[in-house]
Amino acid sequence: MKAFSFVIALITVCLIPLSMLTSCQKKDGNLKDSDLNTTTDTKDINETVNKPNINVSSNTLRVKKVEGLSENFIFGMDASCVPSLEAGGVKYYDHYGNEKDVYKILAENGLNYIRVRIWNDPFDKNGNGYGGGNCDIENAIAVGKRATANGMKLLVNFHYSDFWADPQKQSVPKAWQGMNVSDKSNAIYEYTKQSLKKLTEANIDIGMVQVGNETNGFMCGEKKWENIAALMSAGSKAVREVCPDALVVLHFSNPELANRYAGYAYELNRFNVDYDVFASSYYPFWHGSFENLITELDKVTSNYNKKVVIAETSYAYTPDDTDFHGNTVSAQMAAKDYPLTIQGQADLVRDVIATAAKIENCIGVFYWEGTWIAAGGKSYEEHRALWEKNGSGWASSYVAEYDPDDAGKWYGGCAVDNQAMFDKNGKALESLKVFALVRNGNLDS
Ligand code: CA
Repeated sequence: MKAFSFVIALITVCLIPLSMLTSCQKKDGNLKDSDLNTTTDTKDINETVNKPNINVSSNTLRVKKVEGLSENFIFGMDASCVPSLEAGGVKYYDHYGNEKDVYKILAENGLNYIRVRIWNDPFDKNGNGYGGGNCDIENAIAVGKRATANGMKLLVNFHYSDFWADPQKQSVPKAWQGMNVSDKSNAIYEYTKQSLKKLTEANIDIGMVQVGNETNGFMCGEKKWENIAALMSAGSKAVREVCPDALVVLHFSNPELANRYAGYAYELNRFNVDYDVFASSYYPFWHGSFENLITELDKVTSNYNKKVVIAETSYAYTPDDTDFHGNTVSAQMAAKDYPLTIQGQADLVRDVIATAAKIENCIGVFYWEGTWIAAGGKSYEEHRALWEKNGSGWASSYVAEYDPDDAGKWYGGCAVDNQAMFDKNGKALESLKVFALVRNGNLDS
């Protein structure tokens, strides 16, 4: 997610009184199918995988079939914040109001992949979390176990930072500050290797590993391509060694600028970076038209024989905020033909999937943080207490030591609760059904 804090900050200032601002599991691995009706217990995932029972229909959501989807097309969701929300009492419910493991609900709605971000050390010296889900390796293990238990693969997303990494911000982890490129490359290699070992030892089914997040010519403090390529190569080497069956993903953003991606792919080729998938974020309110996305990604696939994936997309189902912290997307940002409604949200996702299906070698689409809802509570103060305690807002006050000029000033709650696919009470929205319904459509039913 880009332009994250800046936009949020502006909106927050407007809405909140100033006084308040303060496994690579082998493909034929040892997991086995079991009774579909067995309740998922995350403690028993080594013994039990609940294959999802996907039986989705809707009387209210209308979805047009997407032609040309491959059998193994990836329908993914980044669901990194869930543990931090649950720590504050958030619960999730399926379409019928049954409380369930949210990862099971996702699987039942056709999702077959979970993406989880990893920050090296998102805590201060007293153990207080920086927020944004406090997404360290332990959080990734917890999320990965639940994804695997419900038959979904994991996309492991290394930011190589202690907090959000995006085109504007690629802060070096505290432990690596002052290192030269050679030492930093070694650190990335070792960190990636050790982290992936922990995930594989937990029998998590890793399908892809992302080396860096939204690295637009900027990664882990480095801005020269020669250096960025060295860092990427170090991460890639670790993935190949620990997870030989996983795809290596490099992630970029801002396809709206013509030839940006062609330029990046050229540099990656020039420095011989070993990767499989060229990933792009695509947010309709920032990143240009569908046609442009196809054009820019086709330049990568046609010249360099890489797979591509839409690693992030999302859209709002309502203009309303639900947690006293202003949201990134407002009614004024709605794309033409896509009102901020549950149907509008589903239509946008359907059309991103249809766009992906038209791109050569595009293997799938990931929705970004569709499970990130309000932390809970009746007042701003109650929400804020949960953001601070559990890291369930976009940033906590404790991040000031690491990111004093941005998150340290504008920390707070969730800026994407209106882009979730669950309502503020945790109940699945009808739009979550879009992933299952695009295969056959339901306009004729
Ligand atoms: Ca909000």
